[in-house]
Amino acid sequence: MEKFIAKKVTLMGPGPTQVYPSVLESLSMGTIGHLDPQFIQMMDEVKEMLHGAFQTKNTLTMVVSAPGSAGMETCFVNLVEDGDKVIICQNGVFGGRMKENVERYGGVAVMVEDDWGTSISLDKAQAAIDANPDAKIFAFVHAETSTGVLSDAEALCKMAKDAGMLTIMDAVTSLGGLPVKIDEWGVDAVYSGSQKCLACVPGLSPISLSPAAVAKIEARTSKVKSWFMDLNLVMAYWGGTGKRSYHHTAPVNALFGLHEALRLFTNEGADAVFARHLACHERLKAGLTELGLTFFVAESDRLPQCNVINIPEGVDDLELRTKLLNDHQLEIGGGLGPMAGKIWRIGLMGGSATEENVDKCLAALKAELAPVTA
Ligand SMILES: *Cc1c(COP(=O)(O)O)cnc(C)c1O
Repeated sequence: MEKFIAKKVTLMGPGPTQVYPSVLESLSMGTIGHLDPQFIQMMDEVKEMLHGAFQTKNTLTMVVSAPGSAGMETCFVNLVEDGDKVIICQNGVFGGRMKENVERYGGVAVMVEDDWGTSISLDKAQAAIDANPDAKIFAFVHAETSTGVLSDAEALCKMAKDAGMLTIMDAVTSLGGLPVKIDEWGVDAVYSGSQKCLACVPGLSPISLSPAAVAKIEARTSKVKSWFMDLNLVMAYWGGTGKRSYHHTAPVNALFGLHEALRLFTNEGADAVFARHLACHERLKAGLTELGLTFFVAESDRLPQCNVINIPEGVDDLELRTKLLNDHQLEIGGGLGPMAGKIWRIGLMGGSATEENVDKCLAALKAELAPVTA
């Protein structure tokens, strides 16, 4: 068997995204012990930088040693107890996964469905809250990657908090690309992923839980239905006081990478990073419009970092994306579930959000679409 060497691809899909070169360098440092004092110091720094990225003071801010989906499971498995009613606003694929989580962990999901491609309706959410005053938790996706839609997290959290509910927010695609203000908005549990706007490798999930969320976990009368994700146990490892005991072997090198990705985010400055994402989105929008391509989502609801466009009539989705990959070394995303074959998702996340990438993507689309749409 020969050593595996991956061909270089420009990643402009919905994640994973292009990893910053210095993150790749950090990944290749020699592995050290996961209880080594230097590693523990690094974990403290990761936590400090996550406080900044999430804009929170939450003590329980840490990284789950698994991808964003595991961050989602961690929030739900810890907060949902048998019989707990959870209101879930769904406007795409990821809201549907929240329902799966709630039901598997013994909760009762109350679904509030919005059309795919539109943001969560505040009126419908308020009506569901009014109709279900006994709900314990209110959950939603801030940036729905499957449809490229942003929802008003601040307004949704306010409604739920006013009704005394805890809030769970999916910030996998928003963190690092758009402002995420955990404390100000009143988010009680949030999870994200390393491989989207943070531009690290896949496989890690930063999370943060408020004191109210921690109190609900501490007051549980039944054990958390997962040993690995039980925050009572993991906290002893990521804990605030420096005294750490073995829980599982942390993915040491991946965390080196996340430290570097968060350092780059912090040094560039959140506002500058968001402005870069927006500028790339504007440049892409102008170019796509020139090519006659249209957005699936209304301008007011769009995510700058995940541009969802309609596949033009007569164009074969997979054939075109295969050409982009083989002839242009460029990956863009297709649609998920009911959106398959109808949309493309062009990611401008983290390291992918550069003018050079936008131009490369536009040139490749122009070259491949010209023969079909002419
Ligand atoms: C990508 C994504 C996830 C899942 O993250 P993984 O790292 O793929 O497990 C969850 N929610 C949203 C909104 C996402 O975009």
